[in-house]
Amino acid sequence: MPPLPRSSFDAIVVGTGPGGASVARELAANGASVLMLEQGGAEPLEGTLGQMAAMAAVPGKGAFIHRDASLLVRAITLGGTSAINFATAAPPPAAMFAAHGIDLAPALAELRAELPMAPLPDSLVGPMAARIMTAARERGLPWHKLDKLIRPQACRTGCWRCVTGCPYGAKWTARDFVDEARRHGAMLRERARVERVLVEDGRAVGVEATIAGERQQLRAGLVVLAAGGIGSPRLLRASGLLEKPAAFFSDPVIAVMGSVDDIDGGAEVPMAAGASWPEDGIALADLTLPQAMYQAFALQAGRLDRLLAHRRTLGIMVKIRDQVGGRIGRRWVDKTLQPADREKFDKGVAIARGILEQAGAHHVFASHHFAAHPGGSLRIGERVDAGLRTATPGLYVCDASVIPEPWGLPPTLTLLALGKRLGKELAN
Ligand SMILES: Cc1cc2nc3c(=O)[nH]c(=O)nc-3n(C[C@H](O)[C@H](O)[C@H](O)COP(=O)(O)OP(=O)(O)OC[C@H]3O[C@@H](n4cnc5c(N)ncnc54)[C@H](O)[C@@H]3O)c2cc1C
Repeated sequence: MPPLPRSSFDAIVVGTGPGGASVARELAANGASVLMLEQGGAEPLEGTLGQMAAMAAVPGKGAFIHRDASLLVRAITLGGTSAINFATAAPPPAAMFAAHGIDLAPALAELRAELPMAPLPDSLVGPMAARIMTAARERGLPWHKLDKLIRPQACRTGCWRCVTGCPYGAKWTARDFVDEARRHGAMLRERARVERVLVEDGRAVGVEATIAGERQQLRAGLVVLAAGGIGSPRLLRASGLLEKPAAFFSDPVIAVMGSVDDIDGGAEVPMAAGASWPEDGIALADLTLPQAMYQAFALQAGRLDRLLAHRRTLGIMVKIRDQVGGRIGRRWVDKTLQPADREKFDKGVAIARGILEQAGAHHVFASHHFAAHPGGSLRIGERVDAGLRTATPGLYVCDASVIPEPWGLPPTLTLLALGKRLGKELAN
């Protein structure tokens, strides 16, 4: 790896998920010298289960098993968890941010013009998603197509690889914004694990990182932590800037599945359509998963009889807005459901079962819950201010950690908007 051409930068951005990539791109586009440090690798996405497992299934790294045996997933790779997410976009809840004096509308308007973001054309909505949509509407539910960060012209019918890392360039990921930041002159060090923030005279002046097995100190006028809802609070703790393990939300999900006799499918873009009940903190969407993932769910639910039914099994995800709780420790992460969370699941699972029944499904079963949106661990108004500043001058946070309240939504678009807004403010 060639040495960095400079030893000091205007800004160091730690992590290249949606939050980090967005702020780095905006800073670089405005002429700042930016260094992006990413713990994961930058190998091209292959869309294989093996590559995905290396990014997101290594225990203690990408995957965390809680005391109640539920699973929490993130991805350690260039582009962060967006590399393996389901590409669904939801606008930021304006009132939640307005309560902190934050207006994301200007950033959102720019992003709408910059991102490939629209519902899938009918030709890319798979037969399982279509069957679920018809059944949900027959039951009078407000089921509608969801915005997807997918370029339809590059997307392939009968493909599910957005779930494991789209190799065709059809799915937008934060890697796209990393590339743009680099075109504006930003530098990237992959496999660079930041260990702590350097603080001198009470101000952040850089970071200490392990790069290619060596500890290095890198200096910058500003440090932006964007290591994700788990990574950023850990870095603050490791730097002596957070006194106790952070609590968080995780937006847990249960998959409710049932077989039909007249579909031979199992390979399609998940979350093509859905419905949500924001006041209840419940959202549902179609969820067709690759065979191996489906089989893992069936096994985990003890449904050996359904192991071979993947191509005929409709899936619906029930996602809830869970309460903030649990703890992010240095080596472990733990969060269990509260009674209010269980009530939401009961309600959502009952709706999903009703849809499957309407769709003519039999052998209906539900998975154990799992989660994929850790956030709210350094909340705006508590650990950072409305400008995403920490109490340490020169140190900012821009990722799912800063989401100020329990969530229950796809976070990516909100994080992109927060990153764009922060990048502009810092560049000024
Ligand atoms: C299966 C799945 C499906 C999902 N589907 C959707 C969806 O459809 N829509 C949606 O909006 N969201 C979805 N999400 C969630 C979404 O992708 C995440 O909420 C989002 O990526 C979080 O962005 P972030 O910037 O906070 O962190 P991340 O994307 O997690 O990025 C953090 C980055 O920091 C790096 N990092 C961590 N620690 C360090 C360190 N010490 N040093 C250097 N680098 C570090 C990581 O490697 C990573 O690249 C899904 C998630 C999963 C797992």
